[in-house]
Amino acid sequence: MSNMKEELKKEYKNVWNTYTEEDKRALFAYGERYRQFISKNKTERECVRDMILQAEKAGYKNIETLIENNTAVGAGDKVYANYNDKTLVLFCVGEKPITEGMNLLGAHLDSPRLDLKPNPLYEDTDFAMLKTHYYGGVKKYQWVSMPLAIHGTVAKKDGSVVNLSIGEDPMDPVVGISDLLIHLASEQMQKKLSEAIKGEDLNICLGSIPLEGEEKEKVKANILKLLFEKYGMIEEDFVSAEIEIVPAGPARDYGLDRSMIIGYGQDDRVCAYASLEAQLEVENPVRTTATILVDKEEIGSVGASGMHSRFFENMVAELMNLCGCYSSLNLKRAMSRSKMLSSDVTAGYDPNHPTVLEKNNAAYFGKGVVFMKYTGSRGKSGSNEANAEYVAELRRIMAEENVTWQTAELGRIDLGGGGTIAYILAEYGMDVIDCGVPVHSMHAPWEITSKADLYEMRKAYVAFLKNA
Ligand code: MN
Ligand code: MN
Repeated sequence: MSNMKEELKKEYKNVWNTYTEEDKRALFAYGERYRQFISKNKTERECVRDMILQAEKAGYKNIETLIENNTAVGAGDKVYANYNDKTLVLFCVGEKPITEGMNLLGAHLDSPRLDLKPNPLYEDTDFAMLKTHYYGGVKKYQWVSMPLAIHGTVAKKDGSVVNLSIGEDPMDPVVGISDLLIHLASEQMQKKLSEAIKGEDLNICLGSIPLEGEEKEKVKANILKLLFEKYGMIEEDFVSAEIEIVPAGPARDYGLDRSMIIGYGQDDRVCAYASLEAQLEVENPVRTTATILVDKEEIGSVGASGMHSRFFENMVAELMNLCGCYSSLNLKRAMSRSKMLSSDVTAGYDPNHPTVLEKNNAAYFGKGVVFMKYTGSRGKSGSNEANAEYVAELRRIMAEENVTWQTAELGRIDLGGGGTIAYILAEYGMDVIDCGVPVHSMHAPWEITSKADLYEMRKAYVAFLKNA
């Protein structure tokens, strides 16, 4: 009877004490690979380029080359498709025909940040400054008085492209946005958090040395001279540049026990990186596997590189064509019979902010990967709700593969809410569920995750790709 009682109850337990020494070695090794990835790659373009290098090492071939040479593709073959270094799709062709459906992992590569305005450079009282326009949901007050780095791509009129990364090497200079001194801040301190620092206040300081011999805007002239000497860049090039201002410096181990990671852009590179590793690890799958890593989630999944774009569907069509099974109807069948884990981070229960979550339905650090049957706001508005039978299937797979999972809502009812890319893929009629890991300080310049959850998420992805 006592065993029976155990089986009747579901307790979501902290996973740390269940690990063997070997588990712990694998867990910390994975945490370190991930920490280095997010330290090195802070824009969607940097992520895609690094991921392609890893995929090619694992035997993935560019679909463009395969299309050009009309190469036949079959079971076990590995293919990737890159859209402008912003969206990346990886396929591993299964034994079963693609028309029977694929096992999909999806996550996003874009993160909240400060972009530059198209005409950003100006001079004010002997400072060269840059105007920014924030991207995604940011609390603006978090971005002042901290070291910032400049990452991006400058496309020039002659067709050449220059990549910038300034502020990551410890010997590099950094830039930043000054805050008001507390001594003169009595007016500012009375304002609401949302109004104390405004969008137009987020101006980057670039330098303060005047160029000798110039008549006016001498400091700006000096910065332009530096940019030209180092990158061959002129002021008009800012118009065709994608430059992102992000927190400077590497992600770090967090906590004296090194159980967590603090780093920029963990929403949603924490899921994107785990998806990549799982996709590369699972070879010769039964069903075709695919990992979809998209841009623009933070601003509504819009545009050619966002999940709403036809890119993924088009690439499935191309893959089916190379496999000799493309038809419009077969494509629809492949999409509707697919199953997906749509991965994105969720709010982790935080002892500093206990009231925003409902304790029985909150995600906790150290309790494993989180499955969320639905997201959305108010009365589940905007939610993709996963089918009960699909959730049951995932429970079975996770139990068989010994994956520790938990379940949660994003937060207390009526406090806010959010969405992911799940509902967009669900439009094809496929099974989709939200999953991810809990995060503290989500969307802050430095976000925090638990290495145990990262490890369980990676295990969950491998189990899903092999067994769904
Ligand atoms: Mn996200
Ligand atoms: Mn987000």
